[in-house]
Amino acid sequence: MTAIMSVTDVGRSFGGFVALAGITAEFERNKVTAVIGPNGAGKSTFFNVLSGVLAPSTGSIRFKGQELKGLKQHRFAHLGIARSYQITNLFPHLSVEENVRVAAQALRTRYDILRHRESYPELPQKAEAALAQVGLLHRRGRRARDLAHGEQRALEIAIALVADPELLLLDEPTAGMGPEETKDMVALIERLAADRTILLVEHKMKMILGLSDRILVLHHGRLIADGTPAAVQSDPEVRRVYLGQ
Ligand code: ADP
Ligand code: MG
Repeated sequence: MTAIMSVTDVGRSFGGFVALAGITAEFERNKVTAVIGPNGAGKSTFFNVLSGVLAPSTGSIRFKGQELKGLKQHRFAHLGIARSYQITNLFPHLSVEENVRVAAQALRTRYDILRHRESYPELPQKAEAALAQVGLLHRRGRRARDLAHGEQRALEIAIALVADPELLLLDEPTAGMGPEETKDMVALIERLAADRTILLVEHKMKMILGLSDRILVLHHGRLIADGTPAAVQSDPEVRRVYLGQ
């Protein structure tokens, strides 16, 4: 197995509350790994720690061999880690294209200060490529707030894609979607998974089972199962705490 990311004994507390406790796992390159668990299990906290939004209280995170602990969030982006959020995070009054350009601009400014001034591609091309990838090019002139919910979630993914991430973390990308929009999002994730590593928090079990190479189950901040969809589905503890069986 070629792991693109390895986490060792990663924990995160808020005051005295332990939201994540001693997580050890590896994420294989170009695979889809789902992170599931009941509300409050620590899934979003885990993603926040893996994407540099929150520092871990304990443990180590390595990405392509490099220790990430102590790095700022924009460094995570430059190394190739990007994420979408559980809650919509757009500029509603800006156009679809402006939303993506703002993200690309923010990234480039930091890129320039670091050392990649020459190699960073042009903003318009960058924005256009990201919108094309998620199938939103035809909506480029619309205000973000005028998009359908499913299109807004796709736009958030386009924003994450401007960093050309090798590792993409999607926190509940189908939240609030009906069956049609969910189907479109699954197709998008499948396309994106062809040449990058995806970590996914989701509640829709059928979708997870169809999409994932591997499933991690969190419960009260602990990793209680880690394996193939078949193995995790038949795991007695998972059935008890998560599936309610
Ligand atoms: P999930 O995404 O699995 O629903 P979260 O990671 O959002 O769970 O939250 C896990 C636990 O950590 C919850 O009990 C939540 O209230 C707590 N928590 C998350 N973020 C914070 C924070 N910034 N401050 C205090 N507690 C938090
Ligand atoms: Mg969450």
